[in-house]
This record gives sequence, C-alpha cells and structure tokens, in this order.
Amino acid sequence: MSGRLEGKVALVTGASRGIGKATAELFAREGAKVCVNYFSGEKEANEVVKGIRSRGGEAIAVKADVSKEPQVIAMVEQAAKHFGKIDILVNNAGILLPGDLLSMTDENLDLMFAINVKGTIYCARAVAKKMLERGTGGKIVNLSSNAGLGTSFKGTTAYALTKAAVLILTKRFAYEFKGQNINVNCVAPGYTETDMPHRGRTQEQFLQASGEAASRAMLNRIAQPEEIAKAILFLASDDASFTTGQNLVVDGGRADYLTHSF
Ligand code: NAP
Repeated sequence: MSGRLEGKVALVTGASRGIGKATAELFAREGAKVCVNYFSGEKEANEVVKGIRSRGGEAIAVKADVSKEPQVIAMVEQAAKHFGKIDILVNNAGILLPGDLLSMTDENLDLMFAINVKGTIYCARAVAKKMLERGTGGKIVNLSSNAGLGTSFKGTTAYALTKAAVLILTKRFAYEFKGQNINVNCVAPGYTETDMPHRGRTQEQFLQASGEAASRAMLNRIAQPEEIAKAILFLASDDASFTTGQNLVVDGGRADYLTHSF
C-alpha cells in the first residue's frame, strides 16, 4: 500500500522533539524522505532518524538554528543535495518564553521573534527558491497557535504576537506564490503535551495549567503531538491540493476566545 507522501521529500524544522518529531515520524510512515532539523537536540534528532530508518524509511538529521539565515540556507542546500529536491516544508521550530505587557523583556521578545517569525521567513524563503527553480510546486505548512487567535493564557502575550505574525505570513506567502503551485497553509494547535508547556513549570503547575486548558476545550482534554501531526499531514499532502492561505485550528474546540475565523 502506498503512503500519502510516497516519493515526496520533506524538511521538518524542530523535529527532535514534540510536534516536529511526531510529524517527521508520521511523514516517514506515509512514504516521505525526511530531513529532521534540530538545534540543540542532536542525540534526540539522531534517535528520530534511527527510528525512521529501522522502519525502512529514509531520513537525515541536520543541525541549523532557524533564526540564522546562513545556517538555514546551508541546511536547505544539504537536504536538497542529499534527496535531490524538497517538496514539503514544515515550519515547526518554535519557542515559548514568558511575557505579558507588564512583564515581557526585550530579550524574550527578540528571541521569540527571531525563532518563531524570522525562522519561518528564512526557511520558507530558502525552500521556496528551490521549489521555484524546479517548477513543480510544493507545500509549506507553518505552525501558529491558538494563542495567535486570541486565547488568553497568563504570560503568553509576547508569544501570541509571534504566532499571530505566522498567520498573516501564511496568507501573504500564499498570495505571493499565485500560479506557482506552492500551497501555503497553517496549523494552529491548542495546548499539546510536549516539553513546551512543561518548561518553566513544576509538575504540579503543569497539571494545573493542563487542567485549565482542558476545561476550556469542547473535547475537555489537551492534545497529543500525534494529533497535531495528522492535521499537518493533511495540509502537506495532495489531499490539500485546492487549499491555500488557510489556517486549520486544532485545539479541541477552545471556547474561550472570540472567533475561530482567520
Ligand atoms: P517543543 O517540544 O518545545 O519542541 C520545539 C522544537 O523546536 C525542538 O525540536 C527544538 O529543537 C526546536 N527549536 C527550538 N529553537 C530552535 C531553533 N532556533 N532552530 C531550530 N530548531 C529549534 O515544542 P512543541 O510543543 O513541539 O512546539 C512545536 C511548534 O508548535 C512550535 O512552533 C510551537 O509554538 C507550536 N505550538 C505548540 C503548542 C503546545 O502546546 N505544545 C501549542 C500551540 C502551538 P532542539 O531541541 O533540537 O533545540
């Protein structure tokens, strides 16, 4: 049986852990050759690659800080040279540092902007150049968050700003590729059980925050990374051939913000 990404090559940023790891593994199960990007988690990224290869798939791990354009260009060159092309980019790498209006620091704001926003731009630009050179189109899937749509979680205003920027970049990139067969879409996950919501919290604080997030969702629970990966797969596959410039909210039906529309 052939997979939904048979013959495709995908670059997934931040694939050493969490949603990126689940996406790289799902893509490989669906037949894609995968470039597993990491920044600090070399051991974890190598484990992801090892797992994919042990199941008969093809993958390589490539280190790059997505907030540094020369490193992004080098990573894209390496992936394209190794696999011969790049059909799919998942702009997943991201960080959440605390900061509301009265508490946000320039340092946190600048670092989140550099990774979450500039990283998305640098990766999309480098991969799009390759796609345009080949002329066979491609798929770009960005990772926003329901924070970017207005969910209110204490300490996440600065993060929400960067994720709102990803929503508009998605729409603008899609416009820019008019007629080029490059679909650009976005997934906005809700609270998902990865390292991200654990960071800076004790286990007790994590359980309290998860319980709060779950209670605000119509499905009354938080997500697992594999559930977000399935939405990313849809937008990366030919099932989304006529979908572009869109944001898919995967948050279990969070009812505490004004609109799900984008
Ligand atoms: P995570 O478990 O903390 O993993 C983050 C990933 O990003 C890691 O693989 C990390 O790589 C990578 N990364 C961080 N900085 C990087 C950099 N400068 N260059 C390259 N890679 C970098 O996060 P996650 O929960 O899976 O989140 C994935 C995406 O979903 C993010 O964009 C996040 O904002 C979004 N999201 C998450 C949630 C949630 O509740 N978890 C909700 C909504 C949206 P290394 O470990 O190798 O450094």
